[in-house]
Amino acid sequence: MPAMDNRHARSDGFSCVGDAKTPIQRHGTMRILMLSSELYPYAKTGGLADAVRALTDALRENGHDVRLMIPEYCLTPDRKKIAEGSIPLGFARVSYKAQQLAIGTSFPLIAIDAPSFFLRKGIYGDAEQSEFSDNAARFALFYRAALDTCNTLGWIPDIIHCHDWHAAPAMAYRKSVFLPERSGAQAGILTIHNFGYRGFFPVHDIHYTGLEKLDVRPKVSSPDTFSFLLCGLHHAERVTTVSPTYAREIVQDGPDEFAGALRQRSDSVVGILNGIDYDLWNPEKDPFLPFPFGRDNLAGKEACKVKLQQELGLPVDTDLPLIGMIGRLASQKGIEELLGPGYGCLEKICQTLSVQFAILGTGERWAEEELIRLGNFNQNVSTTIGFSEELAHKIEAASDFFLMPSRYEPCGLNQLYSLAYATLPIVTRTGGLCDTVEEYDPATGKGTGFFVSGELPHAIFDAVQSAVNVWRFHRSRIEHMRQTAMSRRFTWEQAALAYEKVYLSALR
Ligand code: ADP
Repeated sequence: MPAMDNRHARSDGFSCVGDAKTPIQRHGTMRILMLSSELYPYAKTGGLADAVRALTDALRENGHDVRLMIPEYCLTPDRKKIAEGSIPLGFARVSYKAQQLAIGTSFPLIAIDAPSFFLRKGIYGDAEQSEFSDNAARFALFYRAALDTCNTLGWIPDIIHCHDWHAAPAMAYRKSVFLPERSGAQAGILTIHNFGYRGFFPVHDIHYTGLEKLDVRPKVSSPDTFSFLLCGLHHAERVTTVSPTYAREIVQDGPDEFAGALRQRSDSVVGILNGIDYDLWNPEKDPFLPFPFGRDNLAGKEACKVKLQQELGLPVDTDLPLIGMIGRLASQKGIEELLGPGYGCLEKICQTLSVQFAILGTGERWAEEELIRLGNFNQNVSTTIGFSEELAHKIEAASDFFLMPSRYEPCGLNQLYSLAYATLPIVTRTGGLCDTVEEYDPATGKGTGFFVSGELPHAIFDAVQSAVNVWRFHRSRIEHMRQTAMSRRFTWEQAALAYEKVYLSALR
């Protein structure tokens, strides 16, 4: 596991709507409140935003009354106030409004509006500070105002589903907000999208949580700190994570009290594989692509490659395998093994293997600088530092391979997008990567990707070399693997059914 910190980032985008005031309670349907710090495309730093959006859509399609609440990070033109209130936060009382946003979602989307807390140039931090110093107060205000809003609307959820650490104390706080006579049976579900981010705060920040006087006071994880996530782990009826292998890894492997908290309740920890949205990630009708393609017509993929090579200033050469990389430049993603000065293998790969790279990412400054340097000195490397949904789609479509040497990977979405776009993943043997990529078998030529054995630089080098050799000497196998990759389906319909089962068992 890498150093634990609080997830940082940026915000952008928008889209939609719903009717927040009409409680529908059909037979067999549940009222589900989703609390998330990210939502695609309104505010996104990683897979959390995509997963929350798609899961909420899928549950809504199954007839559930789902509402999603998020902090209001940026103003959208079409917003309607549906509630307001104030929360005692520390020594002050903070006023908030609940705004229903119209940004194109199929479900009611409610933003907690408290401008001095949320209207900033980032979700968790900005260019000056990677984490805002008042994040405990910000996210406590978020979940407290969210539950307060439910009370004001008279819409009391059956299920409160929190994602990652940001609203995790709501698993305990709900017990003081929703009185049993109003709420009836109610269950709290906490989904861990990334166990490496735990919401640690100085212990005196506990007074923001609204829990300090209750017997559900967050457990102090060291004399100086407490963790939002740990509080959620102790008070949720069920804990889920985003792939079965990652569920096993975090329950079995962790030596610390977080893993201990999971082990104590390992029968209520469930791994449910994320899906992807095949409407957004469909190479046959992806509006970002210059040429569509599909299983029956892969010519468009090669045309996308040529076009991207031109756009990125790479030599146009369809014989050179193009390797894509997109993501947060963080230790979790293997940046030391790739880029660490005097250690990382990316430079050696570029110098000794005949390949091209199209790289898109943001994150740790040193890694950004190293990537820019590599791009400047290697004509076969294109580096784009930034966040671009459009370029991400183009890289997925144009690349022959996608390199993802993560130290750990709860689920991973990029390898799923890669499979859908006939781009063969080269991945480490961890978490959701194990559950979604089938290893190339040299004896039969079957598989959908290549595995790195171990997370050391030379192992990454070897895996890339193996993939490139198959490309050079067994091209028909690559074509066969592409067909198999595109036939694989990881849908949210399957995932939503599994979540429904978890909700029902928690309510029981
Ligand atoms: P994580 O959530 O750990 O960052 P995932 O693979 O689960 O990793 O999801 C990452 C998501 O964020 C994908 O949708 C990926 O395309 C997107 N993404 C990450 N960085 C960028 C970037 N710089 N530009 C565009 N999309 C990005």
